[in-house]
Amino acid sequence: MTTTLTRPRASMPTPASPTSGGGGGGRPANREALALTGRDYISHSQLASFRSCPRKFAFSYVEQAKPAFQASSLLFGSAMHAAFEAHFRAQLEGLKTDAGGLLHVFMDTWQAECEKAGVPGVPIRFNKNEDMSSLTSQAQRMIEAFLVAPLSRPVGQIVGIEESFRVMLDPALPDVLARVDLVTQTPGSLHVVDLKTSRSRWTPERAAEGAEQLLLYGRTIRGMSQAVGLPVQLHFAVLTKNKKPQVQILDVPCDESRLAAVRDTVASVWRAVRSGSGSSSGGGSGGGGGGYFANPSPMHCSLCPFRDRCPAFGGRASVTVPQAIPGTADDLPI
Ligand code: SF4
Repeated sequence: MTTTLTRPRASMPTPASPTSGGGGGGRPANREALALTGRDYISHSQLASFRSCPRKFAFSYVEQAKPAFQASSLLFGSAMHAAFEAHFRAQLEGLKTDAGGLLHVFMDTWQAECEKAGVPGVPIRFNKNEDMSSLTSQAQRMIEAFLVAPLSRPVGQIVGIEESFRVMLDPALPDVLARVDLVTQTPGSLHVVDLKTSRSRWTPERAAEGAEQLLLYGRTIRGMSQAVGLPVQLHFAVLTKNKKPQVQILDVPCDESRLAAVRDTVASVWRAVRSGSGSSSGGGSGGGGGGYFANPSPMHCSLCPFRDRCPAFGGRASVTVPQAIPGTADDLPI
């Protein structure tokens, strides 16, 4: 069956819309973020982008440059997430889903994402030995694995699906926006689940590396946690893309000392974003002309849609040096 996408009905505080300002849209730090990136918040994907390469961050978020291609892996991830979302929304409404219906959601979302990102003339770049047919088969196998895994029937009550939350970590920082895949409530806890598609199984070390994102997400639902008087538990749910897809659940400890470290990380990256110097990532190989510097690496550059204009590869990117916004704090928390 094809599922109907509707908003979940949860007896919880209403999450903030990413564009609503979340009550903090007028703060100087949020106005500064709006002026620098076109968004009055900062997201985990922006933080990760800046840390991997400040120049790529500037292409994407500051200059909103036209990419040379759309990576199939990003479209695939978005379309799979839409299928999972459709499943959980249907479950919330007491409906059942099947693999055929969820594959339709995958295909529809793929098409919609292509059209949305769809700057005319921007091609999709498939990986080696991959095409639309092989990706569709891949999606079907993963959906089937998902439907028979306990993940598809979460214990407790679903209280949030693909919800956006904003939180102010510090008055000197823009709000942090988190888009949380799934929140469930059991008698003892609120569970935050982030769904990942991955080429291979995650190790505990890989989960620990990615913990910052979940800790941030856990922090954004603190208000919800306090409202119901339950602690938060954090989990990655990983679906592998191999021939026989597997579903993993990996727990991430949620403790206050680690949350403080996450806040400091956000402050450090935001300071570097403001200065346009890339100073928080340390080093780099230059080539950015003094603005957001290029930080080439085999892993990131081979998939970078801005490589043809990147200074590290002979391109002539404009140098963007952000201007301070009147009324913003000069002293960030660290
Ligand atoms: S090609 Fe590499 S160095 Fe250049 S912007 Fe992209 S990721 Fe950064």
